[in-house]
Amino acid sequence: MSACVFCRIVAGEIPASVVHEDDDTIAFMDIGSVNPGHVLVATKRHAENLFRLDEASGAAVGRALVRVARAIEKAFAPEGLSQYQANGELAGQTVFHYHVHLVPRRRDDGMKIDWPARNPGRDSLEADAAAIRKALQQEAGGR
Ligand code: 5GP
Ligand code: ZN
Repeated sequence: MSACVFCRIVAGEIPASVVHEDDDTIAFMDIGSVNPGHVLVATKRHAENLFRLDEASGAAVGRALVRVARAIEKAFAPEGLSQYQANGELAGQTVFHYHVHLVPRRRDDGMKIDWPARNPGRDSLEADAAAIRKALQQEAGGR
């Protein structure tokens, strides 16, 4: 069994509210969500950061990121959508597996975010995930 929490999510050993999955990428709701609709877009393969991936996988992650971000905007109409990523022990990370945080923001959230501010619970994560999945389907249909 892998010690990496995201590898365990990819393997289905830890439940997660998944919004998108393809050959290279999985996107799911962050359990320690700062704001509703906070999604983690992660590689399926264990790699600490984008530049440890081969180019094709890196490009695939970018494509998934664009799609998921636009679906979050469609589902939640946030005033902003922040993209955060850090990697490695010296960046204070707890998960050493490449992932991008997509965090919907409101103007009065301020610059400093409480991390993590709350734990929304499975029902609310599932509801958020369903809204994003619906937006992804609508976007795919419109292409
Ligand atoms: P970082 O290392 O980037 O600060 O944080 C890793 C992120 O993964 C955190 O935001 C944390 O809430 C999230 N996370 C950690 N374990 C789990 C988990 O088991 N399920 C989900 N959905 N998210 C997790
Ligand atoms: Zn991993």
